[in-house]
Amino acid sequence: MRRILIANWKMNLNHQTQTQLAEDFKKRLKKIKQLEIVVAPSFVHLQEVSEIFNGTNIKLAAQDVAFEKSGAFTGEVSAGEVREIGCQYAIIGHSERRIKLNETEKMVSGKINQCYGAGMIPILCVGETSEERMRNETESVIIKQLYDSIYKVSGLPEKEIIIAYEPVWAVGGSQFLDPDELAPIAFLVKKTLSAMYSEKFYNNNVRFIYGGSVNSIIAPAFWSAKFLDGLLIGAASLDIEEFYNIASEGETFSARGQ
Ligand code: PEP
Repeated sequence: MRRILIANWKMNLNHQTQTQLAEDFKKRLKKIKQLEIVVAPSFVHLQEVSEIFNGTNIKLAAQDVAFEKSGAFTGEVSAGEVREIGCQYAIIGHSERRIKLNETEKMVSGKINQCYGAGMIPILCVGETSEERMRNETESVIIKQLYDSIYKVSGLPEKEIIIAYEPVWAVGGSQFLDPDELAPIAFLVKKTLSAMYSEKFYNNNVRFIYGGSVNSIIAPAFWSAKFLDGLLIGAASLDIEEFYNIASEGETFSARGQ
């Protein structure tokens, strides 16, 4: 599977800035061929951004989906609806939703089910808070998040999934994980998912990616990790030159087979 680079624009842009950034992505990322580029705009701009990316290699993700298929869920947006607009991926269980909107594992699990039902690939975010890290609970938190959110999902192990390790303390700030600390987490995720399903499932259907304050300066240290299948970028994806530099570093490492 190709390495993936995901831009999460969150709720940072308005109509004008979002469409302008989409146009910039379209122009600037033309030469990126080795990486799969995915952009997650806000729901209200998905249609317009989808039209801008039409005919390019840039794919669309939803920033979230509802945990049910349809019905009386005022304000929610279903996986089927975003799939219709062209989303192939959805970010699920982002720490901002888990913490600020009290999203539970049960909801996360339902959302993954809905992604599969609609024919989309979930990007499942897992990671510990700084308190959990200080209590040395990083491993147990990740194992629990993986089990609780995936265990009851129908569709696995046949379907693909992306596991985004996003330590909560590193998201949306200036702190980032020492890239050397990533290998044990990648190993843990592989061990956990291989035990739940099989190593073959992990090797063929799972991509392990990192997210948390990555910018163009530290990106090469992450891209050089052979076991890493991609990056999820928040703040730095709002600046086309920053994002382009992260992408071209990834392109260089991937072309070298790293
Ligand atoms: C994110 O929101 O998933 C993220 C990684 O954000 P940032 O790069 O800003 O930390």
